[in-house]
Amino acid sequence: MLLADLSDTYGEGKIRTTMSQNIILSGIPDDKLPELLQAPLLQRLSPEAKNFISRTVSCTGNEFCNLALVETKERAVSVAEYLDERLQLEEKLRIHFIGCPNGCGQKHVADIGLQGSLIKTPEGMVDAFDIAIGGTLGTGDQGPAAQFTRPLKGRVKAERVGPVLEQLITYYSQQRSEPENFHSFVERVGIPVIQEQFTAILAAEA
Ligand code: SF4
Repeated sequence: MLLADLSDTYGEGKIRTTMSQNIILSGIPDDKLPELLQAPLLQRLSPEAKNFISRTVSCTGNEFCNLALVETKERAVSVAEYLDERLQLEEKLRIHFIGCPNGCGQKHVADIGLQGSLIKTPEGMVDAFDIAIGGTLGTGDQGPAAQFTRPLKGRVKAERVGPVLEQLITYYSQQRSEPENFHSFVERVGIPVIQEQFTAILAAEA
């Protein structure tokens, strides 16, 4: 409702949604922008959102979907905020959360896709995520280069997703050749090498 009011007041009464789950208020005249940008709502939903939160996507998870194995949306926000507080990365990595294998949150074309699952612990079953990497919709100069994510072996407890991704992305940022995006990095280095790194991260977590 608040966004609709802003669109009515400053724009053309239209709101668009994007594939990265962002919002576009269309038809805002340049001379109204400064005043619009002062709106309290846009201090929270900032057009200059931080890196990870700006590209993180989530399906609805168990709040509204009875197929979901886990909660996704709150976790997606908290993981993105965790990464934004700790990592400086120019590239906007696309991290997608889904609550079950159906893939409504498009895990398969993310840089890092997380699929809800359960893991057995001494205290019983707890929420966890399976991780897959290296997806892209790409259509580079050499023609279409679309690629689905490839799974990594090893399940991560939901509460440890932030720290595990922090280490995985740090590994990428230290090992990448400039300029190399995450997808190209995965293609060059290869899943077996990244799997080795991921296994070491999980072993240190245990
Ligand atoms: S991916 Fe699964 S949990 Fe998420 S909305 Fe789709 S069916 Fe529900």
